[in-house]
Amino acid sequence: MSKADKQSKGTACTQAKSMFQNVRNTTQLFAVLLSALLLGLGVYYFNILFVLGALLAALFAGRVFCGWICPNGAWIDHGVSRFSRYRKLPGILNHRWFGYGFTFVFLTAFAFVHWNVQGSAWVWLVPIGMMGVQVSLATILGGLYHPRSFCSHICPWGVLGALIGKKGRYQMRIDTSCKSCHTCARQCPLGGILEPAIAQVKDRKEPAQVSTSCMRCMRCVGACPTNALQFGVHEDASKQVKGQEHPAVQSG
Ligand code: SF4
Ligand code: SF4
Repeated sequence: MSKADKQSKGTACTQAKSMFQNVRNTTQLFAVLLSALLLGLGVYYFNILFVLGALLAALFAGRVFCGWICPNGAWIDHGVSRFSRYRKLPGILNHRWFGYGFTFVFLTAFAFVHWNVQGSAWVWLVPIGMMGVQVSLATILGGLYHPRSFCSHICPWGVLGALIGKKGRYQMRIDTSCKSCHTCARQCPLGGILEPAIAQVKDRKEPAQVSTSCMRCMRCVGACPTNALQFGVHEDASKQVKGQEHPAVQSG
């Protein structure tokens, strides 16, 4: 291939990648506007429908909802990221078992309120309370540490999505054209989730599956100079390293 051909292929690739992010920004904006409209109309339980949709999507494609539609994720990407201090989550908060514990407490509290609050109060208390907790925690943690700190392994729907997504048909993988440059890892909003897969490809010389915590935002795909990252059906990718279902969020 001539130099001119390579340059034109590179330009087309860059355009396609930036189009990807434009589409993602648009779906996030649409989800925020739809949420605001439904809130304005008093349809408070819309977020419960969103959660059901997120878990259903996870059956096939993992946490695709988190990266493309979640209104809280959109707020973090376009709002919280502007004032975030981009620091690593400290100690216990950075452990995947904290996410499992928080999910258990959150769902237990949700079930308790659900069964004990009757009538019209349920309509606003459960969905608004749930939303309030999630947005507040995401904003505080995202501001103090890395923007997607809450999403990485604390958000209950993210934790459930990652667990359900393990069996999903569509996965993110890194193939053997990977040069271990770690450019993708520096772009990933979830920090450390790509590192184990990069190391696996290097060690075993075979494609490796990325952690199911991946939100399918495609930022890594756009950043990779060798197009080693692919999202799709991959029968040949070796499974992710055990224990890497939830990442340790690193400084950006
Ligand atoms: S950017 Fe591409 S080549 Fe570099 S480490 Fe990531 S997957 Fe490998
Ligand atoms: S691994 Fe890639 S697609 Fe997944 S969250 Fe990170 S940057 Fe986004």
